[in-house]
Amino acid sequence: MTQPLPNIDSPKSLLDFVRMFPTDEACAEYLFRVRHPNGFVCPKCSSQKGWPIAIRGVTECSNGHQVSLKSGTVMHRSRQSFTAWFYAAYLMSTLTPGISALQFQKQLGIKRYETAFTMLHKLRAALVAPDREKLKGEVEVDECYIGGPEEGRTGRAKGEKSLVGVAVEVVRWMDSSGRKPGRHVTQYDIEGPPEYQERSQADGDPVPRKRSGRVRMTVVPDASSEVLLPWIESNITKGSKVHTDGWKGYNGLGSRGYCHIRTLQSQDGHKTGKWLPLVHLLVSNLKRWLTGTHKGAVRHKHLQAYLNEFTFRFNRRFWRGPAFLRALGLAVSVINWPQYDTLYSGKWAHPAAENWLQTPELTG
Ligand SMILES: [Zn+2]
Repeated sequence: MTQPLPNIDSPKSLLDFVRMFPTDEACAEYLFRVRHPNGFVCPKCSSQKGWPIAIRGVTECSNGHQVSLKSGTVMHRSRQSFTAWFYAAYLMSTLTPGISALQFQKQLGIKRYETAFTMLHKLRAALVAPDREKLKGEVEVDECYIGGPEEGRTGRAKGEKSLVGVAVEVVRWMDSSGRKPGRHVTQYDIEGPPEYQERSQADGDPVPRKRSGRVRMTVVPDASSEVLLPWIESNITKGSKVHTDGWKGYNGLGSRGYCHIRTLQSQDGHKTGKWLPLVHLLVSNLKRWLTGTHKGAVRHKHLQAYLNEFTFRFNRRFWRGPAFLRALGLAVSVINWPQYDTLYSGKWAHPAAENWLQTPELTG
């Protein structure tokens, strides 16, 4: 279950972060405050006096009882310092291009690559809130291939690539400022069709724009309706307006309680970029991130974790402080964290969006 975020200061910039967390002691002090927003009470003797002890990772009460500061967070049983974990959580939750395990290892001077790799994956495991709300309103849906050589979109056969279902909420708003979209507008803001812009600018009317709201991304086994329809049902509220292309896998959305708006592709398959602009922009950013930050080295069995990371940052791009707290695992009770051996043997199942489909590929 998601707990409400503690009402506590969180860093809003890297400078803020450096000022707030100069030492392990400062991190421990912070954890102490986050964990006991209404004051400390020792679970063993009910003493109301306690102090965090950074070097031992505990809170000690006035009678000498010790309570772990790290349990229930991503840092549980870790030998890495508080500071290293705080840096990892801050960078992962707020840095737009994210950070690769190799960069992270080098930047923080962590001895082994495996340690850095596992830390980042533990953070990723904390990023999916188990009870998060479904998307609603107006949503663009499409699938894309990740990995492998590029090919035309007409072939939906799988090969060595991973197929990913993508859903983006459409947020519409009217801009009456009369300004051109400049620096105050993010790259996800898209103006209405040209004829609309010309007309409204001539009349001095507000310009209709749209931008992305929240997103969902899930590795799916194939693009059949047996897969796509339950995926949509577990991610999008019934009654929503769902835009898709003409693929037959989406047949039946209407009878399942959605307002299905289908845009037929032209023969060359390039028209959907114009008609599903938000989902296409998102997918191109996802691909750029995977090939840029991660050098295209993300393996199929870990892809869901990277999608979770991308989605987490995207959905919180306007709320950096709370994102940091959530990434530390402080606001979500996740019981299991992956270990290096389970990550590598493939025994660890990255939390998918939901248990919407029980397939060996997703749960095994
Ligand atoms: Zn005590």
